[in-house]
Amino acid sequence: METHRLRNLLHPDLLRERLKREARERTTLSFYRYVRLNDVEALRHALYAEWEQLGVLGRVYIAGEGVNAQVSLPTANLPAFRSALNAHEAFRDIPWKIAVEDDGKSFLKLIIKVRKKIVADGLTDDAFDVTNVGEHLDAERFNRKMEEGALVIDMRNNYECLIGHFEGAYLPKADTFRGAIEEVSEVLKGREAKEVLLYCTGGIRCEKASAYLKHHGFTHVNQLHGGIIDYARQIKDKGLPSKYKGQNFVFDERLAERITDDVVSTCMQCGEKCDRITNCHEATCNMLLVQCEACAGKYADCCSPSCREIHLLPLEAQRAWRKGRSTRSTKTKAINDPEGLRQRIREEEELLARNGTLHPELVNVIQTEINSA
Ligand SMILES: [Zn+2]
Ligand SMILES: [Zn+2]
Repeated sequence: METHRLRNLLHPDLLRERLKREARERTTLSFYRYVRLNDVEALRHALYAEWEQLGVLGRVYIAGEGVNAQVSLPTANLPAFRSALNAHEAFRDIPWKIAVEDDGKSFLKLIIKVRKKIVADGLTDDAFDVTNVGEHLDAERFNRKMEEGALVIDMRNNYECLIGHFEGAYLPKADTFRGAIEEVSEVLKGREAKEVLLYCTGGIRCEKASAYLKHHGFTHVNQLHGGIIDYARQIKDKGLPSKYKGQNFVFDERLAERITDDVVSTCMQCGEKCDRITNCHEATCNMLLVQCEACAGKYADCCSPSCREIHLLPLEAQRAWRKGRSTRSTKTKAINDPEGLRQRIREEEELLARNGTLHPELVNVIQTEINSA
């Protein structure tokens, strides 16, 4: 088969429409495994061909060190998908985690990327033994150790912790994995003998984090097996109390899945209690923020008056304004200084009231467009 066919080139709106019409019930699941893989390119094409037939959508990374996948597929095809995985020795009986809150619309297409690593962690692996990982705990044991006073550490990026986290957990300020792990080993200095509990979304980052901490002298390192995703499933199945409060940030169209009804964050624009996470709708901004419904209305789904002004322009004018600017749609970045944001909003609203615009250059942009039309 020609390899250029092994990609989906349709427009996102078309894909979204197609998914909406699809009557089949879908299941969202994720899995990863550190395992030595050979001829990764050929494997990638084989997986794409096999999975596309089963209606699999999602984002998958494969590398010489293993696989890391978030996918959705028709629920009826789950057994066939398991067989397809088992047909590859490296993926035999790979444990998968099923999302608890799921409308089946989590992914629009299937993307399988060949990467150097399955998690972009920025760490030099040869500096420590990545197989010397912490002890894996299920939800019940994780809860028990929390009650016994263990230190709980969130190994996700700062923006992921915003709308939900374990009670009393240390939430790193860093916005990269490498930054977070360095920050954590610094913060915990002198407490190397304490019981440490690590957690992340699906467990994969804790594999590296626990090995890193053990290498740096920590003696009682534990990690939440299957991450928050599987914790949520276990507490539901076994009727355990959830020590995780709020929502779990996920890397698909849903942005978050609710674990408990607790609201642990506030709207970044007005300060009201709120955990509605969204992206600024101005495409060159696209910053993640916590925004209440009222502020979404007030700022037209944007982070600020200056983004709102662009977002409310006619499409052609928006396009003209964006020319030469890069859109941030492929990166995930969040507003990390709500106080600063509120200050900026106040200043922008004042300027806007005085000048009628926050983008004086727009007049030229629009004039040029009209002239060239
Ligand atoms: Zn608000
Ligand atoms: Zn914005």
